[in-house]
Amino acid sequence: MGIKENIQSIEARKEAAAREFAPEQEALLVAVTKTRTPEEINEAIRAGVTDIGENKVQEIMAKYDQIDPVRWHLIGHLQTNKVKYIIDKVDLIHSVDSLKLAAEIDRRAAQHGKVMDILIQVNTANEESKSGVSSGEAEELFLGILENCPNIRVCGIMCMAPVAEDPEDVRPFFHEARELYDKFSQVKHERAAFRWLSMGMSHDFEAALKEGANLIRVGSAIFGERDYGNI
Ligand SMILES: *Cc1c(COP(=O)(O)O)cnc(C)c1O
Repeated sequence: MGIKENIQSIEARKEAAAREFAPEQEALLVAVTKTRTPEEINEAIRAGVTDIGENKVQEIMAKYDQIDPVRWHLIGHLQTNKVKYIIDKVDLIHSVDSLKLAAEIDRRAAQHGKVMDILIQVNTANEESKSGVSSGEAEELFLGILENCPNIRVCGIMCMAPVAEDPEDVRPFFHEARELYDKFSQVKHERAAFRWLSMGMSHDFEAALKEGANLIRVGSAIFGERDYGNI
């Protein structure tokens, strides 16, 4: 199947799984384009993709001028010294996991006269190999950002589950992220605009949607297996 057919099939599966969570639930597909060429990415955009996700600052820089109009998401770990390169390019940063990083995003956003939309990355499985704060640390980070970063709007939570043979097994980790999302959604603050619960990838997006994800990040199910030798 080609890129277009893959997207259509994911859209159909996405809608069915989202409705298992709630009848009116809708979810946004972010096409994860790391290692993909501008030609492949523009093909996906022509097939209806409105949002793309990259996990490396260098790749955003390299491709930015060659990509048709689209919303850009930074989904990977972000080093503070690289914030300046993407602050004017991305629409949503999914991977904020420290006040130090938030402070740098805030400073650079101010320089560009913009308010940056971010998600707090939560590592609900406490995996050593993954970025993100623990569920217990998330509230302190959330409130710290509201208090200290006037140029940041906190728009939700991002979570990655461990790799599991049966994606149903990781639903508890998605569920925990959902509970944080619901709890933080109650906070009344002009820069708390909870809208996105970003969870679910190619192999587990249906499990994530059943736990209430409203944004999924899907790469290989759209474009095929990644070949890191290309980059
Ligand atoms: C690569 C990546 C994805 C997509 O992974 P696939 O398995 O190709 O769908 C999603 N989220 C993050 C943070 C990623 O780095």
